[in-house]
Amino acid sequence: MTNFDFDLFVIGGGSGGVRAARIASQHGAKVGLAEEFRYGGTCVIRGCVPKKLMVYASSFADAFEDSHGFGWNTGENTFDWGRLISNKDAEISRLENIYRSNLTKAGVNVFPTRAIVRDAHTIELADGQVFRTKHILIATGGSPVVPDIPGAEYGITSNEIFDLDRQPGRIAIVGGGYIACEFAGILNGLGTHVLQLYRGEQILRGFDDDIRNHVADAMRERGVSLELQRDVVRVEKDGDGLKITLDNGETHVVDHIMFATGRRASTDGLGVKETGVKLRENGSIVVDEWSQTSVPSIFAVGDVTGRAALTPVAIRDGHAFADTMFGNRGVRAYEGVIATAIFTQPEAGTVGMTEAEAREQGEVEIYRSTFRPMIATLGGGSEKMLMKMIVSKTDQKVLGVHIVGHGAAEMVQLIAIPMRMGATKADFDATMAVHPTAAEELVTMRVPVE
Ligand code: NDP
Repeated sequence: MTNFDFDLFVIGGGSGGVRAARIASQHGAKVGLAEEFRYGGTCVIRGCVPKKLMVYASSFADAFEDSHGFGWNTGENTFDWGRLISNKDAEISRLENIYRSNLTKAGVNVFPTRAIVRDAHTIELADGQVFRTKHILIATGGSPVVPDIPGAEYGITSNEIFDLDRQPGRIAIVGGGYIACEFAGILNGLGTHVLQLYRGEQILRGFDDDIRNHVADAMRERGVSLELQRDVVRVEKDGDGLKITLDNGETHVVDHIMFATGRRASTDGLGVKETGVKLRENGSIVVDEWSQTSVPSIFAVGDVTGRAALTPVAIRDGHAFADTMFGNRGVRAYEGVIATAIFTQPEAGTVGMTEAEAREQGEVEIYRSTFRPMIATLGGGSEKMLMKMIVSKTDQKVLGVHIVGHGAAEMVQLIAIPMRMGATKADFDATMAVHPTAAEELVTMRVPVE
């Protein structure tokens, strides 16, 4: 019988790893966790949390503007980037401390260093310590990838954007996914001139087409220079700035270029491949419904698995793994409906199928409403909200709900509950409206537009 130092050793102190370690320890397992950077992972340190704080910062521009019609005189508004960044940093440090102390309070042995897998039961730390462990959980997340073009090294990614010591006057953002669109909105709202370049036909590939078109139009209306079917081919130094050359030969001078061109699972140099763990071509780890890899003692959760790269999914799957392995309760990785929000300006929320996906499965009814939100009546502005509901013609089940506008993220979180329960259009119709709200549209759209 082999003696193990740990029942579980977790590599990575982000959302998934921390949750799994904490719950496993609470179930009585002896748990070690190594994190080479900061506790909290991408979400807390350089993702969702600082991003949302910056979205709030940016949204005051709208509030100042709207306030005039309601009688306010706000004078000249100025924005202090340094103050935002240092306040944001203080909040991130506070959260990081909570993550760390939750781990130690739960009895997890934490190692602030890099760890690699030596074999199916052996972990080696960068300081040379070697541990034998019964199970290993890989929760190393992912990191940004940048295109292979001349001068790409002058660019920044979502890792660096949060720590710039000065607000860029002009920035080019490459990509059309969540991160590119969210940062285009944040920086534009704060007064930076934003040139967004996306190689495809419309931003936010994979989302419902009405959302994509609505968000793109609104972003342009708000001042983002969004260029579609356009890419950058070269970046060069130009004094204090950068000269970027596009695929049509055009050049622009900017302070920074940010690549938001996707993320790659962090498995390089981790020793998993050598241990026999099956990886996909893009480096992500193949896991089954129990988060188990092809090596029975090694498990993985979070972005490193190539499942939906979303914090709540990593947390849920980390918790499920710990309950299954150490809590005598078999819980599979989450496979249900996932609502998600894109914190663009205006923000978008989406749950369930897109219209295109639903049409592939059968006949559908489309309910759609675009309207000026009430705040615009006195606040001014022409930006409209969009609500869209996709309903199966056969059984009247609501298959997808897509919203653009203020509060969209909060709304889809709640819509995800009836959707998961299999609600029909009639269930929505039978629900009394809350007036005056934007969300009441969801229960008052009576006539299909298609
Ligand atoms: P995405 O995969 O969403 O988007 C990457 C974008 O970069 C796409 O528009 C893609 O184009 C483009 N691209 C990829 N390679 C190149 C290239 N070589 N040259 C030019 N363009 C390129 O990645 P993100 O980095 O935006 O986000 C990563 C993940 O993080 C998301 O999938 C999401 O799960 C998560 N996330 C979630 C958020 C939220 O919930 N609000 C916020 C931020 C991130 P194409 O479409 O043509 O492939």
